[in-house]
Amino acid sequence: MAWGGLTLDFWPRRQSREIRLGELTVGGRAPVSVQSMTNTDTRDVTATVAQINRLEAVGCELVRVAVPDETAALALSSIKKSISIPLIADIHFNYRLALIAVDEGVDGLRLNPGNIGSAARVREVVAACRERSIPIRIGVNGGSLEKEVVEKYGYTPQALVASALGHVRLLEDENFALIKISLKSSDVMATLSAYRLLAEAVDYPFHIGITEAGTMLRGAVKSAAGLALLLGEGLGDTLRVSLTAAPEAEIFVAFELLKSLGLRRRGIELISCPTCGRTEVDLIRLAEAVEKALAHIQEPLKIAVMGCVVNGPGEARHADFGIAGGKGVGLIFRQGEILKKLPESELVQALVAEVETFVAKQKMRSGECR
Ligand code: SF4
Repeated sequence: MAWGGLTLDFWPRRQSREIRLGELTVGGRAPVSVQSMTNTDTRDVTATVAQINRLEAVGCELVRVAVPDETAALALSSIKKSISIPLIADIHFNYRLALIAVDEGVDGLRLNPGNIGSAARVREVVAACRERSIPIRIGVNGGSLEKEVVEKYGYTPQALVASALGHVRLLEDENFALIKISLKSSDVMATLSAYRLLAEAVDYPFHIGITEAGTMLRGAVKSAAGLALLLGEGLGDTLRVSLTAAPEAEIFVAFELLKSLGLRRRGIELISCPTCGRTEVDLIRLAEAVEKALAHIQEPLKIAVMGCVVNGPGEARHADFGIAGGKGVGLIFRQGEILKKLPESELVQALVAEVETFVAKQKMRSGECR
């Protein structure tokens, strides 16, 4: 149940072109997709596949791997064979690695054509990508701008855009339009200004993110601030939350952000009270236990964990299920209606059972309808 059904769909989204990465559509009216990057050694196929499989399990829709050398490039087809989501090869400077990656069957490249040398090399990479319909993401980063761009514009949003447009021109000169662009800076407002400027110049889909955002909590807050501003202006077709943390955490934060804005629906949305002088249970522990116990649920459900039986169910009446703690006991409720009263120690287990039964019935019903 939503407050009046308002979502960010209510606000206009920038009209971008659609591109395809494997089975995934990015841009146009496609949902804003969530991606991450592995931090394993790409040459270690087993470790990289294991990490990608963990990312897939938590909802990652697109994954990028670093390709620093030929051994890593030659590992790509083995990785690709063992995963289900589109694979993007991240390549700097070396056009030969790009050609190998395309040959190995990747679904996308991240490569700045201005950094790979002569026009002939750009032409060769573009020809290989065109033949297999593989998009190229131009990824401009505030920390690695070209010298001449910095000399002309300084470290400004205009510099990020000028750099991106320089790379775009090289691809457009080859009549190649399977392009996606990111402009990343660790400065939230500079990033916002840059994407606004770029949106006036091109209609290629945008990969958005606040780069080097920081450790788990700080990075999540900074990313949420920046990405919400961008998405609120309709800017962004796919996103990565960059955290100094396990890649799985990036997916968690990305989905929480998109769910909060009504742009995606996946898994539980936890509504938990801030606690106050009326709280007579260990609510922080209870909320964490519920979150952990329901992490496997993929269906969109609102779950409330409230500190008191007086206000809890009422305050959380928009939740699908919930717990309201009392003195040594608690209530299990569904959409504000009390289902049962149990000792504190049995609450989490009972809530999980209710949710799982509900989800199983829903699945059965949707199966019957097919
Ligand atoms: S639900 Fe109850 S315990 Fe939690 S903040 Fe509200 S009044 Fe306090």
